[in-house]
Amino acid sequence: MRHVLKVVLVQLPIPPLGPEIIRGNVPLAPAYLKHYARRVAGVGAEIEILPADLADRAGDALLLRELSQRDADLIGFSCYLWNVERSLWLAERLKEQQPEVRVVIGGPEVTLDNTWVVEHPAIDWAVVGEGEATFADLLNALTADHRWLQHPGDLPPIPGLWNRAARSYGGVRPQLPSLNEVGRVYLDGILDPRWHDTLFLETIRGCLFQCAFCFYPKNFEGLRFMDDNLVLANLDLAHQAGISEVFLLDPTLNQRRDFLTFLELLARGNPERRFSYSAELRAEGIRPEHAAIMKAANFTEVELGLQSVGRDAQELMRRRVNREAFEEGVRTLLGAGIRVRADLIVGLPGDTAETIRQGFHYLLSSGLYSEPQVFRLSVLPGTEFRLRSKELGLDYQPHPPYHVLGTSKLSIVEIACLMREAEILFRTQFDPWPVSEEEFSPTILQQRGSFWEIDLDGPQPTELPDVQIAHTLWIKAQHFEGRANDVRYWTDRVINENPHVTLWIVLDISDAQTLPKADDVETIFRACYDRAHSYWDWYFAPELPPGPSGAKRVVVYSSRSLQGRRGWLDRRFSPPADLIEAPECRTTGRRRRRKPRDSGNQS
Ligand code: SF4
Repeated sequence: MRHVLKVVLVQLPIPPLGPEIIRGNVPLAPAYLKHYARRVAGVGAEIEILPADLADRAGDALLLRELSQRDADLIGFSCYLWNVERSLWLAERLKEQQPEVRVVIGGPEVTLDNTWVVEHPAIDWAVVGEGEATFADLLNALTADHRWLQHPGDLPPIPGLWNRAARSYGGVRPQLPSLNEVGRVYLDGILDPRWHDTLFLETIRGCLFQCAFCFYPKNFEGLRFMDDNLVLANLDLAHQAGISEVFLLDPTLNQRRDFLTFLELLARGNPERRFSYSAELRAEGIRPEHAAIMKAANFTEVELGLQSVGRDAQELMRRRVNREAFEEGVRTLLGAGIRVRADLIVGLPGDTAETIRQGFHYLLSSGLYSEPQVFRLSVLPGTEFRLRSKELGLDYQPHPPYHVLGTSKLSIVEIACLMREAEILFRTQFDPWPVSEEEFSPTILQQRGSFWEIDLDGPQPTELPDVQIAHTLWIKAQHFEGRANDVRYWTDRVINENPHVTLWIVLDISDAQTLPKADDVETIFRACYDRAHSYWDWYFAPELPPGPSGAKRVVVYSSRSLQGRRGWLDRRFSPPADLIEAPECRTTGRRRRRKPRDSGNQS
């Protein structure tokens, strides 16, 4: 009997910044691939989307075990900024264990100019651009002839597919004619909106704008739509499922000519306002009649990009802002009771420290936002900025998130200072710790991730739970002084097998007779960072000193009152560790604010 091709599709989440339950990693791209391959292209393969409880919670070692146990012929990874390094790490380990398994990658990180990805030795094939039809063709070819699994380099060219062994690209793939081909992933039960309490709806693919920092328009030509009756069927499903949000993925909701009619359709699809809508749009052109229907449809929040008020930056990013129209649009939305998240970018070519500050103050003084979002520019592969980076004087990280490290008008320090300034001005933290000092306790950390309690003076635990994506190492000891290497042993045990998880190391000094010395804490901190970096490590790397770290955090914790010693201890441990006293112990004394951080990238 003929062997049925077995495929597993994996979409890994944005890792948490600390112990936190992950939400929002909706595997829409894998669902599209599965739906198109099975229902449109009629591929006879067995396709599993890695379930959310594994994809969103498991640490690296557990994921590896689960994937290898599946004994798949082909593993597909959807690669985004935040998961590409972890996906490739997994692919590499998987191939060490099972050299016969084949790996295909796709997603926005897969562009032919992103050579560290498409040349990675762990991948066999890469889907460049719109993936559904290319992926289906690949499965059809592998189903028709299993020899290509043994000899991936010999696979005949497929449009849209990069073949690493053959170092060949099959040429540009024609686009799908409409979104009707993929618009039934919820209706056909491939995704259940109740899993995430949200239905992600893509009614348009493509963007008429050409922002130079954005990869999206390079991926698609023109606009493709989902038919109105299919939109309504999806909304009816959201209604029946009782979910609370429909998230419209359309890159700019009001780019469509029939915007007003489309809003009426959305209102019709939510007659009892059971769920809310959120979307991205441009403020320019929003009129009272739009806002009124949006309100009637139950839009609660929109995100829009101001990005920069600097003329030169606007020219270079090909995104001119008509201030009058922008102000009118935002006021109209706010006046209708719709929250507005307004974005600014720091580090755009053409901007100076002065024009960036003008942007902060313009937003602040005009009050044209409900929530400000200030991002550091990411010089993304496949974008115009990446292509012109030399000419524009853009220096950027070679790893995701490809943060800008300098421009011809801004140094790395100026960019970091401006990010910090924005947090102070807007009185916010763009990336706060997910567990505040007030709620910091073993119980909370245990609820939100995996937890190992280790007593350095007690017997070694014989059984420890699997490491999840957010892990806490809670260390107790009678004597902490000179014990850095003992802590390091446990740190290595976690990170060696799970280099991409978020790790918090808590030194519980509540019952300790000797405290760690500053050198001990430094050694533990180094044990975390003197190794290959993960996503958050790179993300925070351009921080100003004393900068916190990234995916690993060291905390010195006491459940007993530190009383008058707090200031002294704070100076002793911080940085690189944070000192936290159990909330019930804190009667007086200052609350240390977490150091400011910057945020991710724009749409
Ligand atoms: S940033 Fe938004 S509006 Fe600009 S090109 Fe990208 S998707 Fe279109």
